[in-house]
Amino acid sequence: MKALSTFCDDTCMIVNVPKTKYSTFMPWRSHLVNHEPVFFNNMEVENVQEFTYLGTLMNQNTWLRDSGEVLFLKARGVLGGLLKKAGQLHIENLNILGRLFESLVNSVSMYNCQVWGVRFLSCDTIDKVLNNPPQTLHLQFLRTISGCNAKVCRMSLLKEFKQEPLQIKIALACTKFWNNSLKHDGIARDTLLSDVSLFCNGNKKNWAARFLESMYKLDIINYEDWMRIRDRDIHYFKTLFFDENLIRYKYLDRYEHLWPTSIQGWVSAHSRSGTSFLKHHTWFYVSDLIQHKHFQANLSQHYMRCLIRFRLGSSCLGVNDHSIPKDRRSCPFCSHLLEDEEHFIFHCPMYSNIRNSENFSHLWEPEHDMRSFFNQQDQASLACAILRMFKHRRTSVQHLLVDN
Ligand SMILES: [Zn+2]
Repeated sequence: MKALSTFCDDTCMIVNVPKTKYSTFMPWRSHLVNHEPVFFNNMEVENVQEFTYLGTLMNQNTWLRDSGEVLFLKARGVLGGLLKKAGQLHIENLNILGRLFESLVNSVSMYNCQVWGVRFLSCDTIDKVLNNPPQTLHLQFLRTISGCNAKVCRMSLLKEFKQEPLQIKIALACTKFWNNSLKHDGIARDTLLSDVSLFCNGNKKNWAARFLESMYKLDIINYEDWMRIRDRDIHYFKTLFFDENLIRYKYLDRYEHLWPTSIQGWVSAHSRSGTSFLKHHTWFYVSDLIQHKHFQANLSQHYMRCLIRFRLGSSCLGVNDHSIPKDRRSCPFCSHLLEDEEHFIFHCPMYSNIRNSENFSHLWEPEHDMRSFFNQQDQASLACAILRMFKHRRTSVQHLLVDN
């Protein structure tokens, strides 16, 4: 307080004490509260347990833990407003909706993520990659605009829209924060180095500890360095910079372990979501570099939603009904056969008329498999044919129920 008073005198600044608050950061989740009175110019300064500074919530005991969740709630409100307004203005183009989400919602939910997002850099499990607050909201948005249910594989949903997990963006923001802070002398560098010295003294929960640990887990810092890093002189850290491209590459490489695309056959996929991911990847997905054909085709929202729901396993086909055992998910018209995507598109006799009709017969070339069928040029006819088949399925099932 004495130092602050001297600083204010030297710089002709006045502290507005009634509007000033103070807080002491206590050991992580200790539930201790510091109420020791603090005075400035003989006036008591108000003690608060938590406060918001530049949009980031800081708490005496949980530090920055809830910042992401607070921003999530704010951004969710913005998302509701965006969807409502888009509905009123009849904005249906998914690319435009995506850009609006990026600029209006994501900018709020990712705000200051270089400070609070360091908690979400681990990529050991699928949930650790996809369960952070901005990612949850992003997936919710993609599900809403595509009409997919909550059961769709989250990685397939991202790949369908050519998106990467937001974890990469958070990690790159943290890396920029580290690199830029160390570049020049000044308050940013001093603050980061103070945080690093906390890490060197054994703290495992502070910003530097979490960031450096995630760099070690990504193999950016090797094992020997990691074993010795806490004993390093602080000057060592002044020259420690990280390559953003390498970090992005390492994350993508880790995701390949969680959602493997190179293993043979779906039987070896480790979970149901692994199976759906492989199905999506094998049949529908082409490349990270090329936009999917249905996104290029300028289809109406109705057609787009039909195609995306089919591709992501969110249609009404029996195979997608996870409430019953797999051996009972049979075709309503060929009771002994599983109603999966291949049966529906190529084999079920119920849709022969549509396959052979004048408008759609060009879609069913003899050499087609699922991959070439779904990646052919005429996506408008493709979507129209599939919509027609689902409509036919609906009315035929209703007739079956009435007959029985
Ligand atoms: Zn059938």
